[in-house]
Amino acid sequence: MHLKKELKYFFRYLVRDSFIAEFVLLKVLGSQPSGQSLSDYQFQMLNKSLVRAVETLPAYAQIDLHEKNYCSLADLIGKFKIISKVDLLEKPTMYYPNHAKPKRWYTVGKSSGTTGSPLVMFRDLYSVLIENYFVKRHWQECGFFLGQKCASLRGDHVVELNSSTPPFWFFNRYNNQLLISSRHLLAACIDAIINELRGFSPHMLQAYPSTAFTLAKYLEEKNQYLSIPIIFTSSEPLYSHQRTLIESRLQGKIYDMYGMAERVAFVTECEHGEMHVNSDYSLVEIVDDNGIATDDYGYVVGTTFHNMAMPLIRYKLSDRTRWKKIACQCGSVFPVVEPIVGKYEDQIFGGNGAPISPSVLTFAFKGVQNIKKSQVAQITSGVWEVRIVPDHQYTDANGALLIRNVAELVDATIQINIVLRDDLPNTISGKFRWVVNEMKN
Ligand SMILES: [Zn+2]
Repeated sequence: MHLKKELKYFFRYLVRDSFIAEFVLLKVLGSQPSGQSLSDYQFQMLNKSLVRAVETLPAYAQIDLHEKNYCSLADLIGKFKIISKVDLLEKPTMYYPNHAKPKRWYTVGKSSGTTGSPLVMFRDLYSVLIENYFVKRHWQECGFFLGQKCASLRGDHVVELNSSTPPFWFFNRYNNQLLISSRHLLAACIDAIINELRGFSPHMLQAYPSTAFTLAKYLEEKNQYLSIPIIFTSSEPLYSHQRTLIESRLQGKIYDMYGMAERVAFVTECEHGEMHVNSDYSLVEIVDDNGIATDDYGYVVGTTFHNMAMPLIRYKLSDRTRWKKIACQCGSVFPVVEPIVGKYEDQIFGGNGAPISPSVLTFAFKGVQNIKKSQVAQITSGVWEVRIVPDHQYTDANGALLIRNVAELVDATIQINIVLRDDLPNTISGKFRWVVNEMKN
């Protein structure tokens, strides 16, 4: 097992982070765009992706990109209709190249598919490299540089799940990175993990919001702190109550990132707390229910710039946001959006059918003690099930306070069922969804 891990992280380093990877990337990427040259760059990249799509994907075979001279992005993209996950699942031979069979040199990425069907994505080596480039660029903007000590608390399988004695981590020497097993964020293992983190003293932690939050909860319970200046979160919605506790107990600053397996949008938080759409990564549109561009809240639609193995054109996600027309103080040329509101399956609704903001939902837990873990699920219209993993001091009074809080601070018309659980399991990839909508449609 140990040798296997050594090899895995060595090869990962070689492909993604070594000077060889840097060299390959520099060759293809050139210099970083800015200002006017950014829109030129976008136009050029969009054109390249569209041409590739027409050449390799049967769904677009009829489109003629040479019939006129296109002068705007909207003009160019307008030839293509908006598609979604359903199209890829139902008509794979239309939207995947090569009769939906990956070529041997492609890597095949999988979307986590927390609900419904997972999706596979074909990627070429360049796509893998460039993804890593964008992640590292965000890190650098926030003050973390490769080679500095870092820790990771994500889905990596680094020790056997049933292992009950330390180490619950693996040191990846190639990246100076302490990989902690998030499956071992348990009462029996947490002291060893906290001690290891304190001793290693990383400059940066990469985590899911839920795993960093669990760590912060343990620290709070033990009245302890860590000192990790930079915390990168991604892959799950980040709620404000999580951010507050994590930043306070880890004594660092969170920089969130929004991306997805389909790689059609890459949005990064800057030091001023604004979310910037990295517009050299993909073309992002925000559209209303009818697929028309909107300045109001709408769906995120993205077109890949950097995956010639399988270009995704105008791919609609279930996430929603709105353009924020400000010039951010950080000076970035990348446009700003409101924090991205989660997918439908992460959205719950009040008694009158209006969406409830997760920040408002946190008021339900105001002053409620003796809860180790919780989850709020919409099980049917007008009914939420609040699932609680209680600690040994939990009483019905704690639950009663929660119900009162909801009625007074969140929504007076919703019915609350409190259900006590021994545990609230994570998904296979180690993620956890605090808010979950289990209503059909
Ligand atoms: Zn900014």
